[in-house]
This record gives sequence, structure tokens and C-alpha cells, in this order.
Amino acid sequence: MDVINQLPSPEALLEELHRVVSKPIRLMVVCGTHNRAILRYGIREELPDFIELVAGPGCSVCVMPTGHVDAFVKVARQPDVITATCEDLLKVRGSKESLADVLNEGVHRVEIISSPRQALELAYVEEDKIVVYPAVGFEATAPSIAETILEAAQNGVGNFCVIPSIRLLPPTIDALLLDPQLSIQGLLCSDHINTISDTEAYADLARKHSLSCCIAGFEKAEILQGILSMVKQIHRGESMVDASGAMVYSMEETARARRVVEEVFFPTETAWRGLGSIAESGFVIRDELALYDATKRFNVRFAEGTDQCMCHCNEIISGRALPPDCPAFGMACTLQNPVGPCMISNEGICAAYFKYKLES
Ligand code: SF4
Repeated sequence: MDVINQLPSPEALLEELHRVVSKPIRLMVVCGTHNRAILRYGIREELPDFIELVAGPGCSVCVMPTGHVDAFVKVARQPDVITATCEDLLKVRGSKESLADVLNEGVHRVEIISSPRQALELAYVEEDKIVVYPAVGFEATAPSIAETILEAAQNGVGNFCVIPSIRLLPPTIDALLLDPQLSIQGLLCSDHINTISDTEAYADLARKHSLSCCIAGFEKAEILQGILSMVKQIHRGESMVDASGAMVYSMEETARARRVVEEVFFPTETAWRGLGSIAESGFVIRDELALYDATKRFNVRFAEGTDQCMCHCNEIISGRALPPDCPAFGMACTLQNPVGPCMISNEGICAAYFKYKLES
């Protein structure tokens, strides 16, 4: 893959933004990494007052419903299971417990890893255990998870399986945008979407909801260029996807990623914390690979949880509020004692607000 375009400096982009914006504009920053970068660079303070940025559902831990966390905990307590999970997921509570509770009990093993590949490597070493990987993340993570499952199948590794809890953003953004009160005029999307969704799903969203979209990287200039692109589109009355500043994946890379994902998964309805159940917004593992599906192997279902969180994460991940609107922010809920997933996760906007607004 390559990066295209030489960008102007952040100062030049900010100067142009202040010059061109002439009316109130509301943009959704979909991705948790973008939200964090915007706070780290202090971009909110530097933008013209006309531009309002709200958060979107692009933090995979923040949108994890209690029913899925309950399934992770239930599987983690099965005999001979080692759960191999990303650290962010550890503290997220289900209806009663989290994987951190299982770890602290000291009866069942929970290992922190940073990729599905590491989970499979653990399975190669721990031959008399079953290594279970709770697969959370968005569509961009699907190719590496699918590749890992295919490698396990090709090598006849029988002690590795996955809890499929991957989420697809476009159907959920589509559902959110049906609320006219949100009044979102543009979507800032991350580079990652190009891996399997490509820009077509976002072009459909742009047409359907009369939006401008921009796919951007995570540097300050890339984010500002993306915001400027959307402002210009909105002033011109255009609804399109600007991918000119995005990473470009070759056709072979994209085709290969899609092929492995289709070989392993197919889309299904799935639940999102605070947003309900959304058609075709998740993946299940195909029956031919049922051995690698921990929900089938351990006969565990994703129960419909009630997501009883006293916090305001639901409103925050759907663009209806920002962390300072939550009465618990910085009081009952801090980085040291997080209440909701938006503070627990590194990608959560409450955690980023706390770190860059309160601590710095
Ligand atoms: Fe939830 Fe804490 Fe964020 Fe409030 S500050 S919305 S309690 S994570």
C-alpha cells in the first residue's frame, strides 16, 4: 500500500478552514483513534466555532454489548480453556462480570495478547489446552482473524477457536443517521475501512443521507485536510467520499482480504451496546469451520443483555453527547476508576477527554 498526496502544514490548513467556513457544520468523527488524535493535537480548540465534532461508534470495546461479554466470561470458565484477549477488553463488564474478574480469581487462565496470530502461537505451545480468542474489532480486523483461522485449519490445529464478535460500521452508521435530530453533515472515516469495505459502502451512505465523507489518516495535517475537504463539499452541496488522502491498497491486496474474509465469515445481525441489534452488522463463522467457532464448540449463545450502564456511553457513541455532558465524567468516572467502556478503552473518547483535557 502507498500514501498519496503531500499535504500543506496544519497552520495553513487551519487558516484556510477559518477562511472558507461560513455556516454551522456538524461532523461525526467515526473512529476512536481519530477522536483520540483530535484531542491529543488540540484540534477542537483550533477549529472555527462553526464546526462541531461529535463522536461515532468506531470504538470496538465501547460498543461491545453485555451479552457478548457474558459469552466471553462463560467460555473463559470452561475446563482447559486459555482466553487470549486484548487488554482493552479485560475490564469491560458483562451483566455481572468481566474477563478481569476471571483473571483475578486465578482458577482459569486469561492471557493478554495483541493479535490473533499471538493467540494461535499460544495454541501451538499449549497443546493440551484450548486457546480461545474473543475476536472484537471492526471490519478492518476481519482479514487477519480470517487468515489465522485458515492457518489453524490448514495446519490441523484443533485447540484454537474464536468467539466471533466483529462489527461492521456502515450498517450501524446508516441506522444512526436515520435519526433526523442528529443532523450530521459529514463523516470523517479512518484509513482502515479501505481494507475490505472499500469506499463504496461509504459512497452509498453519502448518497442516501446527503453527506460528505472523507477518509483520512491520523496525523494532524491529515485530519485537518479531511475536515477541510468535507467543509468544502458541504458548501458546494456535494455528497461524495474523498479518499484522496487515504492509504491506497492495491486491487490485489483488497481482493485477497475480501476473499479470505468471505471464506471464513458471512454477515449476520448483531447487537451493539446502547444501539440495539442491527442487520448485517456482524460476522459469523461458516459451518465448514465450526471447529474454530467457540460459540458452537462450547454451545454458548450471545444473550440479549440489557446493557444496564448508568453512564452516558450510549449517547456519546451515537453522536448525541460528549464526555463533559456526563455527570460522572471526571467525578465518579476517571481513568483510575472507569465506570463505562468509553473510559475503560484506550480508544474510548471519555478516556481521551480525561487524558488530554483533565490530566494535561
Ligand atoms: Fe460512561 Fe464514564 Fe464516559 Fe460517563 S464519563 S459516559 S460514565 S465512560
